[in-house]
Amino acid sequence: MARPFNFGPGPAMLPESVLQIVQAELLDWKGRGLSIIEMTHRGDDFLSIARKAEADLRQLIGIPNHYKILFLQGGATGQNAAVPLNLLGDKKTADYVNTGHWSTRSINEAKKYCDVHIAASSENSGFWHVPPQSEWKFSADPAYVHICSNETISGVEYSFMPDTGAIPLVADMSSNILSRPFDINKFGLIYAGAQKNIGPTGVTLVIVREDLLGKVKSVCPSVIDYTLELGYEWMYNTPPTFPVYVSGLVFEWIIKKGGLAAIEKINIEKANKLYAEVDRTGFYTNKVNKRDRSRMNVTFYLPTPELDQRFAQEAKTRDLLNLKGHKVAGGIRASIYNAMPMAGVDALIAFMRDFEKRYG
Ligand SMILES: *Cc1c(COP(=O)(O)O)cnc(C)c1O
Repeated sequence: MARPFNFGPGPAMLPESVLQIVQAELLDWKGRGLSIIEMTHRGDDFLSIARKAEADLRQLIGIPNHYKILFLQGGATGQNAAVPLNLLGDKKTADYVNTGHWSTRSINEAKKYCDVHIAASSENSGFWHVPPQSEWKFSADPAYVHICSNETISGVEYSFMPDTGAIPLVADMSSNILSRPFDINKFGLIYAGAQKNIGPTGVTLVIVREDLLGKVKSVCPSVIDYTLELGYEWMYNTPPTFPVYVSGLVFEWIIKKGGLAAIEKINIEKANKLYAEVDRTGFYTNKVNKRDRSRMNVTFYLPTPELDQRFAQEAKTRDLLNLKGHKVAGGIRASIYNAMPMAGVDALIAFMRDFEKRYG
């Protein structure tokens, strides 16, 4: 069966070879006579899966031992509350850089728990760029600085690694984690919902530097209390076993492909090809400041909203799925995460040319 190419922003495509392993193991995991879905999280079998997923992730990103890994629930949205509740300590203020929809979500949640200082914002460009670090102004004594490394809806991605000095840098990396190598040592904490570039929805990755722990507010719910969860090896309550298992298979898939440097090379090639087609004639328009164009979410507009709609509808009949832009942005969005093969990008480009010939 030839599967269509799914350009959806998340839950997103998974590597076909990973799905095949899941299918083969679903009824009977390694001869146990049980599905992974049915197994206790306290048993050696699931614990071996969990510990291997952690070890493989450590290897992939290059995570030193003084950074702790948690697989939690509640999505990136849950982390928007967890971050201030865990990291504020006795400080009153946290700094946020606002680059669009998901940053704004983080800011609005944090406002429930602290004074939010906007260190920089790209609102003046309609959120079509990342404010250069020269424009950032930190508050006097922030607990941390929060960024969203890739705005999934607009397709705006950091092209530089911010330097926040002694202030811990926190990043929502939901939609570009594992797409390129990065230096975890520059961050105090990162988090990501899995359903973009890690695995199935239902598990949330948190990587936190050990020295930031121990400041949790007493009202923090247990399931998002990092210190408590680490004491239970993130299994204070029943963890999302199946999503952790599939995520572990994705980590193995990336390692087999040569790791993050090899994945980045392919991602650059895919994005460059697609942006070159967007820019080719002016029929398609991408609004993002060129330097800040996302490698993961390529957004563009056709000459009219009617054509946007027709484009997405016709694409669907060619097995190019979920290209319609987010409802707040309109237009078209092609999410080309790690699992999207070059063949999918090529098929989209061929369709773009054909569509332009007929409607341009
Ligand atoms: C998808 C997404 C979210 C929301 O994630 P949930 O897992 O649905 O809570 C937050 N931030 C970014 C950057 C995203 O792409």
